[in-house]
Amino acid sequence: MENTLSYAQQQDQQDPLRSYRDRFLFPKNDNGDPLLYFCGNSLGLQPKKTQEYLSQELEDWATYGVEGHTDARHPWMPYHEFLTEQMAQIVGAKPEEVIIMNTLSVNLHLMMVSFYQPTAERYKIIIERDAFPSDKYAVESQLQFHGFSPENGLILWEPREGEELCRFEDLESILKEKGHEVALLLIGSTNYYSGQSFPLAEITELGHQHGAKVGFDLAHGAGNIQPSLHEVGADFAVWCTYKYLNSGPGSLGGCFIHERHLDNTGLPRFSGWWGHDKATRFNMRHDFKPIPTAEGWQLSNPPILSMAAIRASLDIFAEAGMEALRKKSIQLTGYLEFLLESLQDPKINLITPKNPKERGCQLSIQVKDADKKLHEQLTKAGVISDWREPDVIRVAPTPLYNSFEDVYEFVNRLKRIRNER
Ligand SMILES: *Cc1c(COP(=O)(O)O)cnc(C)c1O
Repeated sequence: MENTLSYAQQQDQQDPLRSYRDRFLFPKNDNGDPLLYFCGNSLGLQPKKTQEYLSQELEDWATYGVEGHTDARHPWMPYHEFLTEQMAQIVGAKPEEVIIMNTLSVNLHLMMVSFYQPTAERYKIIIERDAFPSDKYAVESQLQFHGFSPENGLILWEPREGEELCRFEDLESILKEKGHEVALLLIGSTNYYSGQSFPLAEITELGHQHGAKVGFDLAHGAGNIQPSLHEVGADFAVWCTYKYLNSGPGSLGGCFIHERHLDNTGLPRFSGWWGHDKATRFNMRHDFKPIPTAEGWQLSNPPILSMAAIRASLDIFAEAGMEALRKKSIQLTGYLEFLLESLQDPKINLITPKNPKERGCQLSIQVKDADKKLHEQLTKAGVISDWREPDVIRVAPTPLYNSFEDVYEFVNRLKRIRNER
């Protein structure tokens, strides 16, 4: 690798996915120049086609009114089914294991209703330290709902003193000591702060060995890493579609329930009519009979406009393919790492693991002598990145719409700002 613009441009020319960039809308500065966008881990960019997909549903609503449920070009009644196959591909699941519904935190609660069934002896929940706040709040409130205190019931898997990343052997130690008390492991597949991707298969096996259920939050994993959920054998997983999956602010979440649980009608669940047997859903007088797939966890008829945006995005993912995307992602983030290291700035420290298997797109860059002013300067220089107090910039070059030149430009601007201190 080389720290030159011509090398970056050459990499872009050789990139089989380079044309996908043109399918997205980039925010621009006041002069109309596109900004360097590295926040796909927070809100993915809008595909140009999204408007068309949404317009189609608005038109069909205007044309058909309620009949659109059956007569729209993509009928609304089974609309969620149009998304399942492609979403299942992205997370490595069987279609019957996946459903798009609600939003992430809601799905997390629904999954805990089914898979967190504490007893007086076994009630504790393990999460990683620096779990996303919503996950922590959800878990704490579930503990309290079942009559346990978070102080006692929540176990944090923490990095060692002076370290930023969680070690698998420390999770093993926790379970060795307290495994008989643990009901659930809920781990972010890829940590939002450090960018660390955890070994999903090993964690699942470990949790199951100790008799606990295992769920993953793929908010930073879906559309980024390849989590192979079915093979990994997790009990459940949840994710959102507005980060790497580019489906628009606040869009619906995805949910995975492993095949082995699908026909277990003994599992507690919060139910709604959309989870009821499709054949008798509209008879309205039958006792609840869940659809024997992940669809059985649905509550409401879903917002079609949000689903149209998801469909627009999934069509792009299906065309590009996760395999090719991941391959480019490893190169792109590897290039970013190389450029940052070539700065030889003693105050810059990469928190994210070096091994590509232990990370996705994102690098979390600690700048030890910086404060929020650095982020403001980057923004002024046309870079959209994310700042985490006290001193971390998170940058996520995504393989669908970021280029090697973007990465080169980012490091170049960062260097300039650092030199002007
Ligand atoms: C983004 C994110 C969320 C957000 O949850 P919503 O319910 O979609 O608002 C939750 N957890 C994690 C780990 C996230 O990264």
